[in-house]
Amino acid sequence: MIFILGIDALDYELVEKLSLKNLKQIEYSKIVVPIHKELEYPSSPEVWASFLTGESISKSFENSSIFINIILKVLGFFNINTYSGVGKKVKNLVKKLGFNAPIKFGSLNQKTFLDITNSKKINVPYYSFDHKTFDISYLFGKGELSLEQTVKEIKLIYESRKKQIFSEVDNIREEDIVFAFMHTADVLQHCAYLRVSEIELHYIDLNSYVSSLKRKLADSFGEVIFIIVSDHGFDLDKGTHSMKGFYSSNNHLIPKPEKITDFYGILLKIIQDRSKKYV
Ligand SMILES: [Zn+2]
Repeated sequence: MIFILGIDALDYELVEKLSLKNLKQIEYSKIVVPIHKELEYPSSPEVWASFLTGESISKSFENSSIFINIILKVLGFFNINTYSGVGKKVKNLVKKLGFNAPIKFGSLNQKTFLDITNSKKINVPYYSFDHKTFDISYLFGKGELSLEQTVKEIKLIYESRKKQIFSEVDNIREEDIVFAFMHTADVLQHCAYLRVSEIELHYIDLNSYVSSLKRKLADSFGEVIFIIVSDHGFDLDKGTHSMKGFYSSNNHLIPKPEKITDFYGILLKIIQDRSKKYV
């Protein structure tokens, strides 16, 4: 079985600085990810869509407000950048009028490796992601939650996500591939990037969580290929995404992935080879 843990915004440099062995595993590297055309840095909907489909896909967050979404689609249709200039002004005006709502991943109208394999999805973008972290960052952005309250809420989501993934391991049956996703590192870094020690503690906790998760998987299923993937890093000086993704694996992957879109073929090949072995 292949178990993939997607950790949004897990930063290569910080993993390296804190020398977090369980996150690094035996093979780890930065990986090339698509850069969002208008934002000019990697954006999660685009990178996760590209990871899942094996193709560079141009995609943005959707807004939960239908009205805002229509405005964004119309601006997009006319190729108007909604992150700067007139497009940004129109978007902000509509938001000021009270139509704003939290962002979400939206839908992906393309087959992914999870659709064509026997797979299990735990809180995965475009499938079962619960968007709780986006609701919190929305309230933080509006000033309805203080930084203190926001950090507390993010930690609560993180603790329940850890438990959810753990208990879902008990429900794994014949699946060839399991993808579990965590978004708390991203939202914590966005909201609290000035509190470096807070962020570092989160990384250290992730490192020990990975160790217990791998132990549980090994106890239940024996040998499991465990891969950690991230869509981008985080620049704590600037408070924005950094340009490269991250991956690590407890097995040497062949070929070694260089781009996030490389995983699609690598994962399918592992599954194919394994099924041949047992014919
Ligand atoms: Zn982010």
